[in-house]
Amino acid sequence: MDCLFCRIIKGEIPSNKVYEDDKVLVFLDINPNTNGHMLIIPKEHIVTVDEVSSSLASHILEVEKKMHKLLTEKLNCKGLTIVQNNNYGQEVKHYHVHLIPRYTDDCWKMAFRQDNLLDVKEVLDKLNN
Ligand code: 5GP
Ligand code: ZN
Repeated sequence: MDCLFCRIIKGEIPSNKVYEDDKVLVFLDINPNTNGHMLIIPKEHIVTVDEVSSSLASHILEVEKKMHKLLTEKLNCKGLTIVQNNNYGQEVKHYHVHLIPRYTDDCWKMAFRQDNLLDVKEVLDKLNN
């Protein structure tokens, strides 16, 4: 299997590491949206959220908090947007969480919106039945 992020974990491809422990690696995104945009990846090769165990999820949450503190203290960020794509929008098929520090309140909004949205009642109906 030729996975870009597994190769980064093995050190076969260089990355700008920010944090590492036995479960995850955190490194700077090669094409950052803002200064300090980083990715948290698990060391085990998994692809989507469905494969994340509860213990890995809670570990990633702790690392998110640690990175939030670091970004606030060292880069003076004022906010943090956390996003994670599954299948659609997922360029690299190795699970990763984007941490995008925010310095102003105007540089990123959810850019996509589906055309012809269903009525909210129809959506609830589908979800509940
Ligand atoms: P996705 O679109 O899959 O949610 O995000 C993939 C992210 O990985 C993108 O933001 C992209 O810039 C980043 N990326 C792709 N290739 C590399 C690489 O070789 N090194 C690093 N550091 N980031 C990468
Ligand atoms: Zn991988």
